[in-house]
Amino acid sequence: MTVLRKNVSKKDSWNVEALYPNFKAWEADLKKTVKAKAAPFFKEILNFKGKLQKSSKQLAELLELYFQTERKLRKLYTYAKLRHDEDLTEETARKAADTITTIYHLFSQETSWIEPEILAIDSQTLKKFIKDKHLAGYSFFLESLSRLRPHTLDAEKEFLIALADQALQSPHKAFSAISDADFKFGHVVDSKGVKKELTHGTYGVYLRDQDRTLRKNAFTQLLNKYGSYENSLTELLQGQVQKHNFHARAKKYATCLDAALFPKNIDTTVYKALIKAVRENIFALHKYMKLRKKVLGLKELHLYDTYVPIVDSYDRKFTYEEAEELVINSTKPLGDDYQKILKNGLKTDRWVDRYENVNKRSGAYSSGCFDSSPYILMNFKGILRDVFTLAHEAGHSMHSFFSRTNQPYHYSDYTIFVAEVASTFNEELLMQDLIKNAKNDKQKAFLINEKLEDMRATLFRQTMFAEFELFLHTAIEKHIPITPQLLKEEYMKLNRFYFGSDVIIDPEIAFEWSRIPHFYYGFYVYQYATGISAAAALHEKVTTGGKKERDSYINFLKSGSSDYPIKLLQKAGVDMRTTEPVERAIGKFSKLTDELQKLLTKK
Ligand SMILES: [Zn+2]
Repeated sequence: MTVLRKNVSKKDSWNVEALYPNFKAWEADLKKTVKAKAAPFFKEILNFKGKLQKSSKQLAELLELYFQTERKLRKLYTYAKLRHDEDLTEETARKAADTITTIYHLFSQETSWIEPEILAIDSQTLKKFIKDKHLAGYSFFLESLSRLRPHTLDAEKEFLIALADQALQSPHKAFSAISDADFKFGHVVDSKGVKKELTHGTYGVYLRDQDRTLRKNAFTQLLNKYGSYENSLTELLQGQVQKHNFHARAKKYATCLDAALFPKNIDTTVYKALIKAVRENIFALHKYMKLRKKVLGLKELHLYDTYVPIVDSYDRKFTYEEAEELVINSTKPLGDDYQKILKNGLKTDRWVDRYENVNKRSGAYSSGCFDSSPYILMNFKGILRDVFTLAHEAGHSMHSFFSRTNQPYHYSDYTIFVAEVASTFNEELLMQDLIKNAKNDKQKAFLINEKLEDMRATLFRQTMFAEFELFLHTAIEKHIPITPQLLKEEYMKLNRFYFGSDVIIDPEIAFEWSRIPHFYYGFYVYQYATGISAAAALHEKVTTGGKKERDSYINFLKSGSSDYPIKLLQKAGVDMRTTEPVERAIGKFSKLTDELQKLLTKK
């Protein structure tokens, strides 16, 4: 039975009291940070408006004040959010979280003039400022901001774009409304004729079910529902891509891809290298599909047979303490320092809120701020997946810990492009340990298959999505009308290529694009594939290399956002502008497939 929050022992909960002893202290700090009762709330910052071009000293003072204020707000936010997640129905925490979220929005609004005003400083003056001693600590920040100058318009035009952006949210919102709220998928029957409810949540479960009739019915029924709305769904996606195109053209970017990648200084070669490497090595996925078909003993392998596990599950359960030990031990290749900090964080400093309690937020995350521990929320139940979740979140938390203790506040957060590297790296470490220590071939085969499925979903599938996304945007840029027919043909073509000749490409898959919410984000998914590839390549380097490789990786963890993401990874030892890291990752996938084949055909 799940316990009430008030009965959770201190040992099992995070040390959130290190931030504030209680909400009274939080309230007092809030009053100290936000003194005004009405707008402007951050008058001291507003006092700098119109003065930034005057001297480097003024600009330095403003930046100092801005980041110090943001830092304090983040501390207030972290405490309220964590306390809120402990028990989502607890009133005080909910109100505090609402209050600080509103204040944070007001802060963003009241300070939105800062970047445009910095960019309005003429470039010669700004260049001189950047070299000045007052701004030494902000030189990278200012340089990366200056890169946006050619794509920043005058205030009036920027205002118009912001206005348009608000109106152009409709395609994405309408898609979510249809897909998540309006659509009902009814019931499907399994091989025994039992009726089962089909929802987004059960769809994934049914596709992994051993009952083939259930898998087939779920697959067909869900995709056909989307298919019956193909005209509307095509228009919505087209509308979203038109929005990206409007943005790119208004902001003077050559293409939508440039508009998405340039602000983070990620070269489009990174995107293209990913697609190229996966295409050239797609036989690795085909080989895995062939093995799947053989192991399942099917005459025809359909798309609805590609998710069901091919190895019996690992029935072992773990206590939280065992999981903790496994995760800490697995990080041995990262050195004594790393292990000591992690051990202390997990065991003594109470970074983790371990178990489920009544009304606690579900799932898992790593969070916190510059002035707190890198907290981890979990709902640990003892299955193998939970052990991997702890390894994953601990990877994030150690990255945060190192960056926060080695960088000033304004460089202490890492960017999305590198965010999943440290977490995936630690999952790799754990997997390697578990495979090494597996008790028998069955356990080993199960672990390898888990890893293969993970790589298939993250590396191959997301790259296929990335290709489709690029196709869509290129079509709009070339004024090719997007029709349901065009989308279906392209999506079928991609599926045929990715799955290979051993898989029957069922016609319903032609509608699958219409249920993927990520296509509304605009060139986001490729980062899943590059992240897992970078992590795999770095893992290989560190575990087969020496002190130099390890130090480079630890330095990467310490670097926060003090440089461009591609440069940080380059210093760590991988160059994402080349096809090499992705090729290495696929090489690993291929080797694991061979190993699994050997294990499963041994008998
Ligand atoms: Zn993560």
